[in-house]
Amino acid sequence: MKKHVIGAACLGWALAAGACSSAEPTVGPSATSQPPASRGTAIRVLMITATAGFRHDSIPAARQVMASLSVSTGEFTVMVTEDLSTISTSSLSSYDVLVFALTSGELEFSSAQRAAITEFVAGGRGFVGIHSASDTLYGWPDYGRLVGAYFKEHPWTQQGTVIVENQAHPATLGLGERFTLLEEFYTFQENPRGRVQVLLRLDPVSVGSAGDYPLAWVQSVGAGRAYYNALGHFSETWTDQRFQRQLIGAIRWAANRA
Ligand SMILES: [Zn+2]
Repeated sequence: MKKHVIGAACLGWALAAGACSSAEPTVGPSATSQPPASRGTAIRVLMITATAGFRHDSIPAARQVMASLSVSTGEFTVMVTEDLSTISTSSLSSYDVLVFALTSGELEFSSAQRAAITEFVAGGRGFVGIHSASDTLYGWPDYGRLVGAYFKEHPWTQQGTVIVENQAHPATLGLGERFTLLEEFYTFQENPRGRVQVLLRLDPVSVGSAGDYPLAWVQSVGAGRAYYNALGHFSETWTDQRFQRQLIGAIRWAANRA
């Protein structure tokens, strides 16, 4: 699949707001001068699910869930693409939040495209990375800094308990102190704690281990905001309301609406 506009997601917002320009795959002259979305307008999300390495079976579920949340919340529109050639400073100017969901490997971005992505976030927009977004673009350190850490390994694919370190962040509201789910729990090449604000960590006892294993975090990148969540391996995670709650809050926060 090259490029996939989620019509239903666009339609939901179109009915409410009377326009749907953010779902257009190409950017016209008028769109290039659009300011960041202000409160009251839908957040414009571009979601990339391209893979150059491992491809998760949960990608279709991820796309469907994001489209459904777009409609049910009315807070954001989402366009999903795997056509990396469309990424440019001009096309990104039509979006508020860039999501790398279940991406993997050394995706082919030119140096101009890499600059467009880093400047998009540093200039005041948002980045959201999900699960194997940290198993992506090892050869591009600026991307690694945007995510916060690179994947190391996944020692535990089982039921585990996640501790909510920060229960007041928009991306964790309503989760309570902890929750248990079946996941593929990641570890990272370097512990990002100290460079980022950790939201979730694995309760190591729940998987028979010990140590500090952050699973979700946020950070400022220039004038922009970056969020990462290591959960999302299974389709069941994407359809889990506790995960969906985090996705909505993360998009809201990354777009500087919360
Ligand atoms: Zn996985």
